[in-house]
Amino acid sequence: MGILVLKFGGTSVANVERINHVADIVIKKRKEGHSVAVVVSAMGAETDRLVELAQAINSDPHPREYACLVSTGEQVSMALLALALMAKGQKARSYTGKQAKILTDDNHRKARIIEMDVEHIKQDLDAGEVVVVAGFQGYNRRGDITTLGRGGSDTSAVALAAKLNADECQIYTDVDGVYTADPRVVLDARRMERVTFEEMLELASLGAKVLQIRAVEFAGKYNVPLRVLSSFEEGPGTLITYEEKNMENPIVSGVAYNRNEAKVTIRGVPDRPGVANHILGPVSSAGIEVDMIIQNISEDGCTDFTFTINREDYKATIDILERTASELGAREVLGDIKSRNYRL
Ligand code: ADP
Ligand code: ASP
Ligand code: MG
Repeated sequence: MGILVLKFGGTSVANVERINHVADIVIKKRKEGHSVAVVVSAMGAETDRLVELAQAINSDPHPREYACLVSTGEQVSMALLALALMAKGQKARSYTGKQAKILTDDNHRKARIIEMDVEHIKQDLDAGEVVVVAGFQGYNRRGDITTLGRGGSDTSAVALAAKLNADECQIYTDVDGVYTADPRVVLDARRMERVTFEEMLELASLGAKVLQIRAVEFAGKYNVPLRVLSSFEEGPGTLITYEEKNMENPIVSGVAYNRNEAKVTIRGVPDRPGVANHILGPVSSAGIEVDMIIQNISEDGCTDFTFTINREDYKATIDILERTASELGAREVLGDIKSRNYRL
C-alpha cells in the first residue's frame, strides 16, 4: 500500500486526550498497511494567543520575529504527537519545517513554498516510522523561519503529499466534510460527497476557511486527491478531486452554479454580535432554505449581509427582510432574481 498524509487541525490536537486520539487514528492507518506522514497544527487557539502576544509587545511586529514566535505552536504539537505514538508502541519522528526541508520565499507571514526535499522522510517511512511534520512553517534561503499564512498547515500537508506522491491527503478537522456553506452558520447546509478542485477553489475564495485556498490550488496543480473529514467521528468526509470522466451521475455541488437561486442583500446593518441570527432566524422560521451567505467586512460599524435562496422564496424573503431591516435600522434591502450565476 502507498503513503497517506494526514493533517490534524487545532481542535483535533487541542489537549492530551485529543492528541492520544489522533495517535490512535494514525496507528489504525498503519495497521491497515499504509505508510503515514502526519502534519499537525498548533493546539487549539494557540496561534491566536501568540499573535496577540506579539501585538501586545509591538503593534507592528517585525515579520522575521513574528514568524519565529507564531510558528512555535506547531513545534509543541509535533513533539507531543510523536511522544504519544511512541507511548503506544509506534515508532515516530517529528520534524520542524526546516528539518523537513520546506524551503520558502522570504515572505515571513505568508511565504510560498519553493521546494521540498523529502528523501530523509521517505527513508523514515520505509523504515516503518510515522513522520510528524510541524504545519504552517518553513524556512528561507537565509535559514530564517517563515510561516505560510493563517490556516497554512493545510498547504504544508498538500505539499508533503505532492512530494511523497501520496495516495491521498486527508485533512482532519472539526466538521465531517465540506458543506454547501459553513455548517456553523447555516444550520441546514449539506455535506457534499465529492467536490471538484474548481468548486472547492470557488468555495474557499468565498471565504470557506475549511481549507486554505493555497492548499486547494496546490492540490489541483499537482493532482493530489484531498479528503476533508472529522477527527471526532468516523465517516467518508468529502473527497476533492478532478471530475471523473464518464461518471454516470455527476454530482454537482450547486455551490456557485445553482441556476435556480435568487440573491438578496441587506445593506448597512449595524454590526453587532448575533446580527446574522437576527437576519436569518425569521427566514428559516418561515421554512426558507438559505444556501450561500456572505457577510462583508464591517465599515463604520455597519456591514452588508448577502445570501441566496430558492427563486420561489424570493418574494417572501424580501418581505421578511424589509421587516428585519426596520427592526435593525439597516439602510436598505436589495434583491436580484434576474442573474443566474451568483458569485457572492
Ligand atoms: P482546523 O483548525 O482543523 O484547520 P478550521 O477552523 O481552519 O479547522 O476549519 C474548519 C471550520 O471551517 C469548521 O469548523 C467550519 O466552521 C468552517 N467552515 C467554513 N466553511 C465551511 C464549509 N463550506 N464546509 C465545512 N466547514 C466550513
Ligand atoms: N496554526 C496556524 C493557524 O492557526 C496554522 C494552521 O492551523 O493551519 O493559522
Ligand atoms: Mg484550518
